[in-house]
Amino acid sequence: MEAVKDNLIFSLDAFPESGLSLDFVLAPSILSPFLQPDPDLGINAEIPDLVTSMRGHLDLRLTGKRLWVQGTFAVKTQMTCARCLTAFIGKVADNIDEVVELGAPSGLGAAEEPETFIPTKDGFFDLTPLMGELFWLSWPIRALCRPECAGLCPHCGANLNEGACECQKATITRH
Ligand SMILES: [Zn+2]
Ligand SMILES: [Zn+2]
Repeated sequence: MEAVKDNLIFSLDAFPESGLSLDFVLAPSILSPFLQPDPDLGINAEIPDLVTSMRGHLDLRLTGKRLWVQGTFAVKTQMTCARCLTAFIGKVADNIDEVVELGAPSGLGAAEEPETFIPTKDGFFDLTPLMGELFWLSWPIRALCRPECAGLCPHCGANLNEGACECQKATITRH
């Protein structure tokens, strides 16, 4: 069995024609620099605190400059519940099915080119930034600490997961 790769840096020259199939584990210190949130996605403005390394599997196939990337990934991270605003540990996980182009855009026009370019440097390329993008694409739009989270009282702001607040009790008594 092959060792688990602890980075996603690959050599172009040594890239096997038959492709690569590998397990990887990216430590939070390696992945976090690439988790700068995309403001266009309208999500948290801060880099989330990863609780575990990102683990996954990749099948890579290279044809010319075009790289097919398939596989899976999973990582646990701090999230904030969209209903009760409590911090909790959630999971970001997904399948990967991407086609990327290595090197600089060729200027052929949008229809001819994949959307994602991975730069090459000194004959190497790094897929860690791609994993950072995929992380955000899989980030839940409305993360919930639990599916049945009761949320906050709209009047007093109490966390209703911890029991009914005074205003709720008042409502119940009145009706
Ligand atoms: Zn909640
Ligand atoms: Zn209340």
